[in-house]
Amino acid sequence: MRQALVIGNWKMNGSLQQSSELLHTIDSAINDKISAEIGVCVPFVYIDLARRVLGSSKLKTGAQTLSEFKSGAYTGEVSADMLTEFDCHWVLVGHSERRQLFSEKNAALVLKVIAAQKAGLTPVYCVGETEAEYKAGDRFKVIDGQLQGLLTNKEVDLKMLVLAYEPVWAIGTGMTASPEDAQEVHAFIRELIKNKAESTADKIRILYGGSVNANNAASLFVQQDIDGGLIGGASLDAKAFISICQKA
Ligand code: PEP
Repeated sequence: MRQALVIGNWKMNGSLQQSSELLHTIDSAINDKISAEIGVCVPFVYIDLARRVLGSSKLKTGAQTLSEFKSGAYTGEVSADMLTEFDCHWVLVGHSERRQLFSEKNAALVLKVIAAQKAGLTPVYCVGETEAEYKAGDRFKVIDGQLQGLLTNKEVDLKMLVLAYEPVWAIGTGMTASPEDAQEVHAFIRELIKNKAESTADKIRILYGGSVNANNAASLFVQQDIDGGLIGGASLDAKAFISICQKA
């Protein structure tokens, strides 16, 4: 049985005050009625704030990316060890905005996953096709390509990994994959894992992301292979985010 997981991705939004208020509001709304695991990936500069506000809360802090390098002359980068020093638990790897806007490639993303795991972080590795790829009927091929390097690398610990399927055309657009469509891709991803690691395939959580909101969350989360959500826009609205967490 896989425990449901909901992770908010704040992207580059908010101010110190807004972040503090949002963390306090979400944290105080999380109670025993929410059985899902919950995380929030905040901008680097608010990670220490999250650590201080959340303490030992059920709501765990995450980062939105990390460096594949351990330390050294990498101006602007943040290492996995630095993140764990601030009690980070999750880290997103290969979000489509990182792939598209910052040219992050699969090979480097696998190194980021390994760096994260070595430091004790749980990476959330994101995959998904663009609209053009979807229309061309290439989504399975694209997702396969994004996952192969990860699934075949012996240094990757599949037991310490979360995957997220996020169709690029659904991110921040208000267009969501239908539950059936998303389920088909999630089942495909689980099958790919099964081919490499039969015993872990049923244990890995695969999140869906792409315009999830309080109204459509339940119909997505009820699908057999959808184990929760990666939530962008709606995670900046405490009421909507809590409602999504309750549905998981
Ligand atoms: C995301 O950025 O991971 C995301 C899913 O965004 P949104 O929920 O806004 O589509």
